[in-house]
Amino acid sequence: MQYYSLQNHQHRASFREAVIQGLAPDKGLYFPLEIPKLDKDFAERLEEYDPLYIARKVIQPFIGDEIPEHHLKQIIRDTLSFPFPLREIEENVYALELFHGPTLAFKDVGARFMAGCLGYFRRGNEKPVTVLVATSGDTGGAVAQGFHHVPGVEVVILYPSGKVSELQEKQLTTLGGNIHALEINGTFDDCQRMVKTAFLDAELQAQRPLTSANSINVARWLPQMFYYFMAYRKVKHWHKETVISVPSGNFGNICAGMMAAAMGLPVYHFIAATNVNDTVPRYLQNGRYEPHSAVPTLSNAMDVADPSNFVRILQLFAGNERALKASLSAYSFTDKETAAAMEAVFREHQYLMDPHGAVGYLGLKQYLRQHPGHTGIFLETAHPVKFTNVLPEGLRAGVDMPERIQQLFHLQKTAVRMDADYAQLKDWLMQA
Ligand SMILES: *Cc1c(COP(=O)(O)O)cnc(C)c1O
Repeated sequence: MQYYSLQNHQHRASFREAVIQGLAPDKGLYFPLEIPKLDKDFAERLEEYDPLYIARKVIQPFIGDEIPEHHLKQIIRDTLSFPFPLREIEENVYALELFHGPTLAFKDVGARFMAGCLGYFRRGNEKPVTVLVATSGDTGGAVAQGFHHVPGVEVVILYPSGKVSELQEKQLTTLGGNIHALEINGTFDDCQRMVKTAFLDAELQAQRPLTSANSINVARWLPQMFYYFMAYRKVKHWHKETVISVPSGNFGNICAGMMAAAMGLPVYHFIAATNVNDTVPRYLQNGRYEPHSAVPTLSNAMDVADPSNFVRILQLFAGNERALKASLSAYSFTDKETAAAMEAVFREHQYLMDPHGAVGYLGLKQYLRQHPGHTGIFLETAHPVKFTNVLPEGLRAGVDMPERIQQLFHLQKTAVRMDADYAQLKDWLMQA
């Protein structure tokens, strides 16, 4: 498969080049030259197939022959090595739990898949490549876990000081080895800006080749399509029009879902649910894309004001605003509404949501109020234990902390503190 840059449609790259570079040299995101179409028969009979087979059918056209089949099978086996249960919460409302991986958030899938691809492409290479990544909370831990001990790969993670939970911080600052954490005095958007600047710095890249493991990297973005096939596989026999609500920050996950739909997965409608960082809901209302600065919320992994992947969604619809609106609704919710939803769902259904899942739930409920009669799924993107510190008082006792998570709190944090200043980052990268 060839990819082109969204900044310059003439610029082309192979899957391998897109994975290794992360971002095109002109700063554009990579986008597949063609959208592969699934056989109708395949979509109709999804529930008959094994998830590993489905995953390979779905991702293979995006890779072509750049990874041999037996190796791709292995990468998929390593990626999807935990369950994705679908739970009925109330009538016509289901949660697809994506948090049963090693770092208890859905980003494990993309991170592990990308680590597998990059490890394959860099095998036998003498000069290591550095994965440089900004995290608003969960990316860091998932990338750290996914790439820990992958030969030929160093990982540098930037995270906003004081804006990630204690558990998230432990997950990205305690592994050691090839994993390095930089604690930035600033916001996630600052971290993301510093990372993007580094990618464009030819002098730095000559000394130290960089790639990204944010959802801008196609190898992290595309495997997120698997969730939607997994969900559909389980709900298909309901014979209802199924809508999916995705708690969204950088819009990588929902964009993967919309790519799955473009390939032929019959999802009736998507709902992007955001916290008060509502650039996309405002855009769908008034047609103006106007990011404010990011505001900290309970659902911190979605505190993104200028979501990188939204341009990919626009590209999927080739500027056809009517078609976009027919496929996508977006709503935003305050922390107060989020906390109230967590309490109400726990009280009425004994189901404990994390703040991100709760935003997804709220988005789904709002859509269903306006469009009754659909079946809805919201993606529960993180285990509530990751956010115990922000759960409403009455819910904290209900959280079971897995053993391997308890152990993390005894480990020593190691991070380099730095201002939100590109010059400091560059110095550190040139010297380290
Ligand atoms: C990253 C993250 C999100 C947002 O996903 P995007 O792909 O950035 O929109 C939602 N929930 C959790 C728990 C996350 O870690």
